[in-house]
Amino acid sequence: MTTEEEVGVKCIMLWGEKDQIRQTMEECAELIVKLAKYKRKVNGSTKEQIAEEIADVEIMCKQMRIVFKNDLVDSFKFQKLARLNDRVENESQLKAREESFKGKLHIKEE
Ligand SMILES: [Mg+2]
Repeated sequence: MTTEEEVGVKCIMLWGEKDQIRQTMEECAELIVKLAKYKRKVNGSTKEQIAEEIADVEIMCKQMRIVFKNDLVDSFKFQKLARLNDRVENESQLKAREESFKGKLHIKEE
């Protein structure tokens, strides 16, 4: 079985970085359109169609990692996930305190 990275390298070697960057933009645009149309009653997109576009974008992102330095992407991803986790933790604690405060107010009103 050929790995995703091996296929990506072959694509970049065959078609070049410029074409693969353009293809990535196209696939991202297709995903944006499918997401925008999700749950629309007329001409709406389905979860299956969105899943297909996510697969396309992930394949292209793998190639962009090869073009734009995998290690650098990993480094940014690590930092951003840590920051996001901190934010989620802080907002969850704040929300829990607010709910607790609302509960206390409710008790006082009775
Ligand atoms: Mg597509």
